[in-house]
Amino acid sequence: MMKRYMLSVVMLLVVCTIGAVTIRDFEVHFIDVGQADSTLIVDSGKTMLIDAGNNADGRLVIHYLKSMGIDHIDILVGTHPHEDHIGGMDAVIDEFSVSTLLMPAKIHTTGSFEDLLDAIDRNRLSITVPKVNDTFTLGKSEITVIAPVRTDYFSINDHSLVLQLVRDGKRFLFEADAESTSEWHMIGNKADLASDVLKVAHHGSDTSTNSTFINMVNPSISVIHVGKDNPYGHPSYTVMNRIGNTIYRTDQEGTVTITIEQGSIMVRTARVHGNEYWKGITLIGDTSTKMFHMPGCSLLPTEARQEGLFDREDALSLGYRACSICKP
Ligand SMILES: [Zn+2]
Ligand SMILES: [Zn+2]
Repeated sequence: MMKRYMLSVVMLLVVCTIGAVTIRDFEVHFIDVGQADSTLIVDSGKTMLIDAGNNADGRLVIHYLKSMGIDHIDILVGTHPHEDHIGGMDAVIDEFSVSTLLMPAKIHTTGSFEDLLDAIDRNRLSITVPKVNDTFTLGKSEITVIAPVRTDYFSINDHSLVLQLVRDGKRFLFEADAESTSEWHMIGNKADLASDVLKVAHHGSDTSTNSTFINMVNPSISVIHVGKDNPYGHPSYTVMNRIGNTIYRTDQEGTVTITIEQGSIMVRTARVHGNEYWKGITLIGDTSTKMFHMPGCSLLPTEARQEGLFDREDALSLGYRACSICKP
């Protein structure tokens, strides 16, 4: 986690100032949250967030949205109860007002999931469990629920809410962690899976993206949400081969942003283009002394004790005090 933060600090020095934020009519951000999922869609001022990363990513996701000037989420989706998808969602719910919260009819007995239920309660939100073929509107986008087709899956991943979004004739398929069983049911349900952009299932694991399914989707662009040096060996080499066409991986490209410009899909990556909105980590907190420092301070703690902070305000709101040596 810290390695990524340090990289952001380096990026910041290169990219430096970011002017007033202008968000295009339609943007999809595959936010780099390491080995986890978080995708932001903005359409004509309306916002949808699909998943919110691991527990430790909650603040990153919050600040990402805030740096774009977002203070409300129209549609929040917790695709399935795994920590790498809903871990940061309790913090997101505490921070933003939410109009509609979509989740599948599947519970899980983990602390992360219970934290999410507590946050839903605390903020008097209700869960909408959508059915296959239900549709939602987000600005000028039409969103259709493609899966889960059934409610009796053994694997929690197969309970994933799979959504297809259509905007200006371009089709996006967000597969969360759906595995092959769910994919076969989507095929059996005669879903029109063909899509221009695919959010590859389950971080590129070979338990998903079966050959028949990927041939039907036939995406020209695929994005894999995956962490550097993850212990699962994701993404699988076989799956990468099966997908074929252009693949963007968040472990290599950082956050991937997709827009539609003059009728064509445009891809920007943090690695090549920097990030237009995201200012990254600028300060480092010491979780044991509760002091915050500039990146180069001689009093920086060991990596294990470091926490990435966004700015002074963020540090102070988390109860940190400024270091008297580097005076951040
Ligand atoms: Zn999962
Ligand atoms: Zn996952």
